[in-house]
Amino acid sequence: MGTHKIHDYVYRLVSKSQEGFRILPMYQQQMISRGALCNVCNSISSDHFEQISNVYLENTSEPETYLGVIGGILGNFVFHRKLLGAIGVDKLQKLGRIVTVCDEAGKILPSFLCLLINERTNLSLTRGTVPNQPSVCKMCGRLRYWPGWPPETWYILRRDWTSDADIAFMRFPICSPHMWELVIRPLGLEALDATRLSVVDAARDGWPDNAEAIAKECVSRGLVS
Ligand SMILES: [Zn+2]
Repeated sequence: MGTHKIHDYVYRLVSKSQEGFRILPMYQQQMISRGALCNVCNSISSDHFEQISNVYLENTSEPETYLGVIGGILGNFVFHRKLLGAIGVDKLQKLGRIVTVCDEAGKILPSFLCLLINERTNLSLTRGTVPNQPSVCKMCGRLRYWPGWPPETWYILRRDWTSDADIAFMRFPICSPHMWELVIRPLGLEALDATRLSVVDAARDGWPDNAEAIAKECVSRGLVS
């Protein structure tokens, strides 16, 4: 697959489709009641992460998209099989748990698979220059960090990017120049685009480089909600 080097930029994969996925409210309630989902921020509990094998959606038809996020549950990306196959199931399995997506009747949507990201162990963030004020969830302690607007001001920290990684999840799907330019873009998926993010040595938002340290600072400053 060519030589790998430390990159000065990476790409954030972004869907141009407005169509999305919603978790089935009844399934969401079941997850909350058995402690699999935080009832404040909707992130998946580490204890239950390995037990999820299907996600149920309220959508009844398959959206025209290659990459989506299921609303109502944090830490997931839905991939069209075309995109997932090009990236490589093995690469994605290193990053999370691949599960099937079903409609409300329990029928599998054959074109899609969902990658669940454990945000308690995958702490890398896409950072901003002027982010919204970070905070932590009062129930589960998950760090809330929104890098602000516009996405052209977003970047990642070099410490979070390993030199042999072609794809990573830093709250957003991030891929190497090699992966975007030579693997994904040539697929010609019209509803899929990518924006370039700089890879920088130090955070530019006034917060620590490490997500755990940001969370600690939020707690000490009372940014808990
Ligand atoms: Zn929470």
